[in-house]
Amino acid sequence: GIEVRGLVKSFGSTPVLTGVDLDVAPGTVSVMIGPSGSGKSTLLRCLNLLETPQAGRVRIGDDEIDFTAGVRRGQSASLRRHSAMVFQSHNLFPHRTALQNLMEGPVFAQGRPRREVEEEARGLLARVGLAEKADAYPDQLSGGQQQRVGIARALALRPRVLLFDEPTSALDPETVGEVLAVMRDLAAEGRTMIVVTHEVRFARDVADHVVFLDGGVIAEEGPPQQVLLDPQQERTRAFLGRIL
Ligand code: ATP
Ligand code: MG
Repeated sequence: GIEVRGLVKSFGSTPVLTGVDLDVAPGTVSVMIGPSGSGKSTLLRCLNLLETPQAGRVRIGDDEIDFTAGVRRGQSASLRRHSAMVFQSHNLFPHRTALQNLMEGPVFAQGRPRREVEEEARGLLARVGLAEKADAYPDQLSGGQQQRVGIARALALRPRVLLFDEPTSALDPETVGEVLAVMRDLAAEGRTMIVVTHEVRFARDVADHVVFLDGGVIAEEGPPQQVLLDPQQERTRAFLGRIL
């Protein structure tokens, strides 16, 4: 699972996260919603150490960093290993095949044996329905296929938690479903996931927990039925009124 306490992140003099507390139990799916600019991507990037918070602490599994105390050498690499991100646009390496895209991180960053990694990578491509596309380059794939390769690539890193940042918002409406279906499968097999999305039906059906980020903090959270259908905070109601 994930435990976040008092997370603070500013860019220059602009505070973005002003004290975020978040718990994600192992094997559960948390959906994060919130207005544009509220810091959803920044929070995911802090969990993946793509950004360094100024204060607070993050624990993933048994690995913890206290940013208030300062990050020690090697600590961030260790925590980063535990999560993998899926971005809005897949950002695959354009000059690598689907299979090579999956193998890059495990072989070069994690130093795992190529043969073992390739076998696992082929299995993961099959899992997302793309066994026949192993040798295709990203520009030979549809948007939905590229995004499924992006998910398989995240899985290839063997992370404890998967972080999704609006994985379907750049897709054509007809390909959104194939990506959400893969994410439903992952949820059903008990993956720990944080998903930033405005797909309310996905949130209602799949989320164990919904978190509303606003004003630098988590303004409201709870089971999907409560947060989405019976929000307690006026600003949650106002936000849902705009996106529903
Ligand atoms: P959206 O729904 O539009 O994706 P978001 O909730 O993901 O929004 P963030 O991308 O986390 O929001 O941005 C939060 C705030 O932080 C914004 O005001 C943004 O301009 C600012 N910000 C994000 N990254 C940086 C950066 N690298 N440098 C300066 N400001 C940044
Ligand atoms: Mg964002």
